[in-house]
Amino acid sequence: MNLEHLNALKQLLSTPRKIAIIPHKNPDGDAIGSTLALWHYAINKGHNASIVSPNDAPKFLKWMPGADKILNFEKQNTQAKSCIGAADVIFTLDFNHLGRVGQMSELLEESSATFVMVDHHQEPSDYAKIMYSDVTMSSTCEMVYHLIGLLGDVNQITKEMANCIYTGIMTDTGSFKFAATTSNTHRVVADLMDRGAEGTEIHHRIYDTNSPSRLHLLGCALKNMVILEEYHTAYITLSQEELDKYNYQKGDTEGFVNYGLTLDGINFAVIFIENKEEGILKISFRSVGDFSVNDFARKHFNGGGHTNAAGGKSEDSIEDTIKYFTSLLPQYQNQLQS
Ligand code: 5GP
Ligand code: MN
Repeated sequence: MNLEHLNALKQLLSTPRKIAIIPHKNPDGDAIGSTLALWHYAINKGHNASIVSPNDAPKFLKWMPGADKILNFEKQNTQAKSCIGAADVIFTLDFNHLGRVGQMSELLEESSATFVMVDHHQEPSDYAKIMYSDVTMSSTCEMVYHLIGLLGDVNQITKEMANCIYTGIMTDTGSFKFAATTSNTHRVVADLMDRGAEGTEIHHRIYDTNSPSRLHLLGCALKNMVILEEYHTAYITLSQEELDKYNYQKGDTEGFVNYGLTLDGINFAVIFIENKEEGILKISFRSVGDFSVNDFARKHFNGGGHTNAAGGKSEDSIEDTIKYFTSLLPQYQNQLQS
């Protein structure tokens, strides 16, 4: 974080503030972990802070300390609106442009609060006066750890905060295996464990709390997988009908896309998930190596993210979207080979 922005933040937080902390829509472990850690920190420092999420978080994140205090913009709309309206500081965490909060973006655009962005996605937009953007970071959680350190308060990281930060680093790095996992990430995690983070317990709560129907949905997804060897690509589709059949609950498809990459020789994995209510397909892209799914998602599917993990959407049917998707692959054949 550059010194000018850090000093501005120090100045800003030197008196008690009304703070709203915002994760992206469909928040994941990193979004919820980072907002909760920052929330605990802000409360402990004497600020009046709340987290407002654009929509609900999946059940497997709800054990996190403070998760029951998160306001859901869809379900607690009046409270959420007044909280954002009253805020004099708004932290936006784990996203790079206001469109990532869905319907809540209008409210944020109208706000006269000072915006602080903490994020590791590529090509951040410039709505925030104070920016901490670093695309080399494994996760926003890792950045929140560094931010608290930069504010001189690393010793104020409590066990609750350590658990939240650990969770987001673990989920965003695929349990410390993705390329963004650095020696520094491990040093941060080691320090978090010294401060009480319960790694084994967290892993259990995130990954070993499946319902039978989720595993059956995974079975369906894996059966639907199409492998395009010449493009080193594997994709999965899940229709609304299939989701309904297996009693889909929010978060159930988390991680499914990664199975494509477990195939020998596959460098590009995609999942297309129908959402009839929103009238879209939500798409997740993953790659290994240099092929940038951020560029691919940005260019063709109205999305973005990181080099090796990105998302996007389509307003066409599954069939038409797959046709379009497969028609794009020949132009990337060389990049997909390496
Ligand atoms: P996921 O596929 O797990 O939803 O997301 C992978 C990464 O891409 C995450 O870092 C996520 O924040 C980002 N991402 C997901 N969907 C979108 C999208 O529609 N637009 C943008 N800009 N980023 C996205
Ligand atoms: Mn993240």
